[in-house]
Amino acid sequence: PFEYAPAPESRSIVDIKPSYGLFINGEFVDGHGKAFKTISPSTEEVLSEVAEADEADVDAAVKAARRAYTRVWSKMPGRERAKYLYRIARIIQERGRELAVLESIDNGKPIKESRDVDVPTVAAHFFYYAGWADKLEYSGFGNGNPQPLGVAGQVIPWNFPLLMLAWKIAPALACGNTVVLKPAETTPLTALLFAEICQQADLPPGVVNIVTGAGETGRALVSHPDVNKVAFTGSTDVGRAIAKAVAGSAKKVTLELGGKAANIVFDDAPIDQAVEGIVNGIFFNQGHVCCAGSRLLVQESVADEVLERLKRRMSTLRVGDPLDKNTDIGAINSAEQLARIRELSDIGEAEGAGRWSPACDLPSNGFWFPPTLFTGVTQAHRIAREEIFGPVLSVLTFRTPSEAIEKANNTPYGLSAGVWTDKGSLILHMANQLRAGVVWANTFNKFDPTSPFGGYKESGYGREGGRHGLEAYLK
Ligand code: NAD
Repeated sequence: PFEYAPAPESRSIVDIKPSYGLFINGEFVDGHGKAFKTISPSTEEVLSEVAEADEADVDAAVKAARRAYTRVWSKMPGRERAKYLYRIARIIQERGRELAVLESIDNGKPIKESRDVDVPTVAAHFFYYAGWADKLEYSGFGNGNPQPLGVAGQVIPWNFPLLMLAWKIAPALACGNTVVLKPAETTPLTALLFAEICQQADLPPGVVNIVTGAGETGRALVSHPDVNKVAFTGSTDVGRAIAKAVAGSAKKVTLELGGKAANIVFDDAPIDQAVEGIVNGIFFNQGHVCCAGSRLLVQESVADEVLERLKRRMSTLRVGDPLDKNTDIGAINSAEQLARIRELSDIGEAEGAGRWSPACDLPSNGFWFPPTLFTGVTQAHRIAREEIFGPVLSVLTFRTPSEAIEKANNTPYGLSAGVWTDKGSLILHMANQLRAGVVWANTFNKFDPTSPFGGYKESGYGREGGRHGLEAYLK
């Protein structure tokens, strides 16, 4: 069902308005706060001015969501809610090119990823949860007749603006909740296009509300007394602040936070396939991926060979214009994120790790960072422990499976891990021992709406995706 025309993707297929209001009660309205600019990270041009929602705006959005919840959405039979979700899913497919181009412009990610991964997976989430809407009763949730929670306040990051929106909104609506969602301040545009899609789908006003703004807007949303459920994806620091802000309230909370995943390559792994998985693990989406395979753990006996092939493969990666279909690595999302990647990379070098990048011409405007490899990394290095959230891979070696497990688990995070080996028994052993919500075997960064996703330890709690993802939105 996910077919895209092979025509060149271009800026001209999207209509970016000079300014945007907030989407409250089915309409775009002016905010009380000041507007903020959203810029293209690949050119630094100002794309649009977007309203910043203040406390009163957030309150208006929550009130609209409450009204829609009480009067319409929670009373509607599941099969009727499903129709809206299917309709949204189909419009996402129909407008897929537009969504993909806008996502690449606002976020900086390569069009081949937004077109072939983000947008199809977004549509797939709406289809998947549409299918659940009429099957919640007597499916084993609660006492047989599970109830929605009410109004969900949802706050998302900038790395997968549309996909994070789908992870949040699709299960919430399927269960009969209404939502107020705040996109990240550097990537508000596709959420606003999604608001238009809600209008196009005739979704009852107030079922979905989008409030744009930065941390203050998010804070007002999660601490609003009439929000029943808080769903957050973002950094561990902000996740902690949110957990404190809601402590003592009756709000149900899920937190999807940072990661520092180990991608573990054993000496019997098919090496070429593993090299592709390493590249995909860390350079997909410029490494702006919570579950990125940012630590390569490679068995000592094959380390030289893997590194040699990896460097050769990295030399073929094309960094540049996100709208060019040949681009492998797009722009870093913001000047702040670029500064953080540069700082941690410089620290890696200063602490003695070996730094390597292929020769590559970076565009003069915009925010760019070359694919980068650090060798000789040990647990003492900050680049082995801290989330860099960029195209930077730290390489460590190991001799035995137990040493690999110990090193892989030696992190406060626990979101994902990858294992590359020919031995099925070793895969199962590793999967049982790794403290990570997802363990990929001979693949990496695969997402599917039917599978739960979420963290151990400081990577957060709660699961999104699959049947598990519904539990967060039901009582
Ligand atoms: P961030 O925590 O800085 O911001 C996330 C969102 O929270 C933004 O919308 C921001 O405006 C908002 N926010 C900031 N302060 C807030 C506050 N006090 N109260 C409420 N909202 C507030 O994260 P980011 O830089 O946008 O995203 C990168 C982080 O997200 C990384 O750490 C990454 O690992 C994580 N992430 C996790 C997952 C996952 O599923 N576990 C997925 C994607 C990204």
